Amino acid sequence: MTRVFSGIKPTGHLTLGNYLGAMRRWAEVDQHRSDALFCIVDLHALTVDHDPARVRRLSRQATTLLLASGLEPELCTVFLQSHVDEHTRLSYLLECVATDGEMRRMIQYKEKAARERLRGGSVRLSLLTYPVLMAADILAYGADEVPVGDDQVQHVELTRDLAVRFNQRYGHTFTVPRATRPEVAARVMNLQDPTSKMGKSDDSGPGIVYLLDEPDVVRKKVMRAVTDSGRDVEYDREGRPGVANLLDILAACTGGNPESLAAVYDSYGALKKDTAEAVVEVLRPVQTRHRELCAEPAYVEEVLRIGAEKARASARPTVDSAYRAIGL
Ligand code: ADP
Repeated sequence: MTRVFSGIKPTGHLTLGNYLGAMRRWAEVDQHRSDALFCIVDLHALTVDHDPARVRRLSRQATTLLLASGLEPELCTVFLQSHVDEHTRLSYLLECVATDGEMRRMIQYKEKAARERLRGGSVRLSLLTYPVLMAADILAYGADEVPVGDDQVQHVELTRDLAVRFNQRYGHTFTVPRATRPEVAARVMNLQDPTSKMGKSDDSGPGIVYLLDEPDVVRKKVMRAVTDSGRDVEYDREGRPGVANLLDILAACTGGNPESLAAVYDSYGALKKDTAEAVVEVLRPVQTRHRELCAEPAYVEEVLRIGAEKARASARPTVDSAYRAIGL
């Protein structure tokens, strides 16, 4: 059976980008057709300035939202990265295979490090090495597929390179995984700045739709989305990124196609109105289930406990064999 692994960082409140780019597919497709593991990658949240209590709270909130979005613990494994030591054990071995040059070439590193420096802060070493830990997350489970949004494709490519290099040097140990991306909404953009992605770690609230935003807040954010001074609704990601982003979101929410949807609209106002309603409808069942699950914190903890046990049992043999292969 195909093995699928993917993760989500508890660095902020989860967004529509996380949902359309990744979570929805995990629940609707991946957990049903594969042996799937979904990890709240809390160690990755430590790569930037953070408040310990907030990380803990956001980890539980992300777990609850994953379950609310339809992940079923009977069908897949949901767990916290920090509960399973195999991730950091393997990460060190992979650091001995990776080079500093390839780490410095990672786009997310360049962007996030530049942002930290602009704020006058220092860049944590873990921000540089984070893609290696992510490679360990994936390779420890022998994942064949990693369902992600566009922004993570480069990290999965790095994971492939490290797996191939390790296998060539030390003998076959790792499955070489591949990234799978959604057909639409692989990169949901910020509604106020459609040239940058809608990321939960950003502070610019008005351009980001959070999964727990009330319907009226969603409507307001979508109606105020930045478009351009044109009038015709056209799907042109380069020339008219704001309109294209709305068409992508609408298509992802309604199961349509962004190009054909463009032909249906003759004003930005109507496009925004329908997009807002489509987003509200997509979020409604997730929010209802989330409210129910918030009343059952013990259930959420139990899911994480069982998930960690299953994950540990699955990762340990591969990580042990990597230690043997490398000479330890
Ligand atoms: P974030 O950038 O919000 O911190 P994560 O690194 O936790 O996101 O990513 C969780 C998943 O959500 C990944 O598969 C990532 O590719 C996907 N994702 C994040 N932001 C977006 C977006 N704006 N559009 C599409 N997918 C996204």
